Amino acid sequence: MDKLTNKSVYDVLVVGSGVAGMYGSLQFDSSTSVLMLAKYEKNVSNSNLAQGGVAAVLDLKDDSYELHIKDTMIAGGNANDTEAVDVLVHEGPGDVLNVMNNMGVEFDRKEDGTLDKTLEGGHSRRRIMHYKDSTGAELVRKLLAETEKHKNIELGENTTLYSLSRVKSGFRADIIKDGKLGSVFCSYCILCTGGIGRIYKYTTNPKTATGDGIRAAYELGAKIKNLSYIQFHPTAFNSEDGEQFLISESVRGEGAVLKNCNKERFMQRYDERLELAPRDVVSRSIILESRRTGSNNFYLDITHEDPDFLKRRFPGIYEGCMKYGVDMTKDFIPIFPCQHYLMGGIETDIDAKTTVPRLYAAGECANTGVHGKNRLASNSLLEALVFSRRAAQDIKRCMAAGFPSVCEYPSPVEPVPCGAPVPKGIKTEIRSIMQRGYFVLPDYGAIRSGLNQIDNILKRLKSGGFSVTTEFCEVLSMATAAHIILSEVDEK
Ligand SMILES: Cc1cc2nc3c(=O)[nH]c(=O)nc-3n(C[C@H](O)[C@H](O)[C@H](O)COP(=O)(O)OP(=O)(O)OC[C@H]3O[C@@H](n4cnc5c(N)ncnc54)[C@H](O)[C@@H]3O)c2cc1C
Repeated sequence: MDKLTNKSVYDVLVVGSGVAGMYGSLQFDSSTSVLMLAKYEKNVSNSNLAQGGVAAVLDLKDDSYELHIKDTMIAGGNANDTEAVDVLVHEGPGDVLNVMNNMGVEFDRKEDGTLDKTLEGGHSRRRIMHYKDSTGAELVRKLLAETEKHKNIELGENTTLYSLSRVKSGFRADIIKDGKLGSVFCSYCILCTGGIGRIYKYTTNPKTATGDGIRAAYELGAKIKNLSYIQFHPTAFNSEDGEQFLISESVRGEGAVLKNCNKERFMQRYDERLELAPRDVVSRSIILESRRTGSNNFYLDITHEDPDFLKRRFPGIYEGCMKYGVDMTKDFIPIFPCQHYLMGGIETDIDAKTTVPRLYAAGECANTGVHGKNRLASNSLLEALVFSRRAAQDIKRCMAAGFPSVCEYPSPVEPVPCGAPVPKGIKTEIRSIMQRGYFVLPDYGAIRSGLNQIDNILKRLKSGGFSVTTEFCEVLSMATAAHIILSEVDEK
């Protein structure tokens, strides 16, 4: 980031170094200057944690675009944007082939060399490409290596976007680095800041996921849509220390069954698709079953499978369970739902354009409408690829049409060295409000009291006097996202 002090004007600012941020950045040629920000280290992101894989129809002999569209719409409760789904399903295979053939991304193959595709809940065909059980880490590794080869892409690690404001033909971005606030200017901005999982106590998301890009867009006047469409994954490891690592859907895809506190299967009470019903259905079923049995103890059982196959197919999950003394080849895995994914976000069209000119959003922070009310497994990495590419393509079209570059540089923001630190405990307060009010099923009483508490937190944060640090930025984003989500649920 030292270079940032030399250069403060970029053609494109990409906020985020997950799959959406990197793949979007890579679409520009050497004549376009790109600044790509990562709030913490470059590989801390939801993308890096993705296990199951990326869904795409690569083989029309056994699968079809129509079937992938149908599965996506059924999982989404038919609340999906059909145009966006059409783009996702038809263009996604091209992007998957591009990262495979041109960027070195590897997926598991069978002995005969063909892709070893797997099945996940809600998919009617085996169409999930995966790299063992760490597909996201493979994508991040290879895309990062690609971005490092592109001299026009400058990476700002440990650098936080605090806010965006409009200037003539572009934006001023106020950013925090080493505790200092400074500004850069850009003609176009693509927000790829990921989800909001950290507003919950129980989430699979890493510390980056506090909704900063969503708040920055909201403050700029961009439309935010369906922020209450939150996916609760049914099977996170349920440890006593609260660790919530994901037990991928593909474990059920390979035959694992769910059991209640009495070690009995129960999905037949709730849905005929049993363990392979979409995530929202399985999560709701677990919560209803917990109310029926009076217990939060649930298990995944895949002990009937060949132990060698399980260790080979799920090395990361096997290791993760073993850390807690659970051997998935012999023991039932203790699980419970947790927050996992955000379907809604910054409203965009199919070119990833937000309602603010020159501002784009892609990946998990965007509401393209592809997921409807519930994301089909492995469709989000695909969405991050397809729509970050489309954002970049639209920007390239605007540049080629001669849209003026950023041309007004107001004085940069003065550093705020001596404000008070943000009080401790606010993040914990927001998380318990969200857990009580809206976790899998809403509790309307808790939502109303929670909204009052959140309003008070927001008033306090906005009253001034706090230094603008990454911690302050995150708390403000979390409170803003919580406010929008609870208000939306309350209005329904
Ligand atoms: C455990 C887990 C497993 C998953 N498994 C799958 C799967 O198998 N298949 C699938 O399709 N999807 C899966 N998902 C979902 C998928 O990983 C994400 O939806 C997708 O990777 C999001 O990519 P993204 O680029 O939009 O955001 P992210 O990958 O989350 O990247 C966000 C980036 O934004 C940066 N950022 C955030 N705020 C700021 C700020 N203020 N300033 C600067 N930078 C900022 C972060 O540092 C980070 O670099 C999984 C998610 C999790 C958590």
